[in-house]
Amino acid sequence: MQLTNRAKKLEKKPMTLAERAYLPAIFQGLSITMRHFFMKKATVRYPEEVRPFSPIFRGLHVLKRDEQGRERCTACGLCAVACPAEAITMVAGERKKGEESLYREEKYAISYEINMLRCIFCGLCEEACPKAAVYLQADKIAPPRYERDEFIYGKDRLVEPVSPDARSIRGIQLTPEQADSLRSNLAQQPV
Ligand code: SF4
Ligand code: SF4
Repeated sequence: MQLTNRAKKLEKKPMTLAERAYLPAIFQGLSITMRHFFMKKATVRYPEEVRPFSPIFRGLHVLKRDEQGRERCTACGLCAVACPAEAITMVAGERKKGEESLYREEKYAISYEINMLRCIFCGLCEEACPKAAVYLQADKIAPPRYERDEFIYGKDRLVEPVSPDARSIRGIQLTPEQADSLRSNLAQQPV
């Protein structure tokens, strides 16, 4: 029984010789391939090539040391409380006698971890820190990794190295041009 009159009966036309040899389909496919070949690429060769950064990009975390090379963090937990992504965890410990040259405060972070897959790089941890211990370093980005575990940054990757030359292991260093353009963008932002 026919419910509506919208059905349209199609005539099945016999295929031409060219159609049977798939020639129109092959040329159509080749034309699409050639069009995309000369179009501007949508992808970049990351990490060798880095996209331009947003003016509000903040960078990768660093746990700072003081002028005497001691860790500034006192494991107060304010950064973890301020973090909207719940990306920061830490374990606090008491500084022992003889460790005064390692940790500035009597309490310090035995472990301090940031899950970079949760982090939204908002910088609220930096603003919350009363000891100027955690900073987002604007000329660094988290390098690509294959395993999710490798995005959990512990103290080994967060604490500022004593030797400045060792900094490059923390993340991908931007080129001087990228860092300059980022700095000028940040300088133009209202405080
Ligand atoms: S930058 Fe923002 S999201 Fe990332 S750890 Fe700090 S507070 Fe959390
Ligand atoms: S980084 Fe700053 S806010 Fe976070 S635990 Fe250490 S001292 Fe406290």
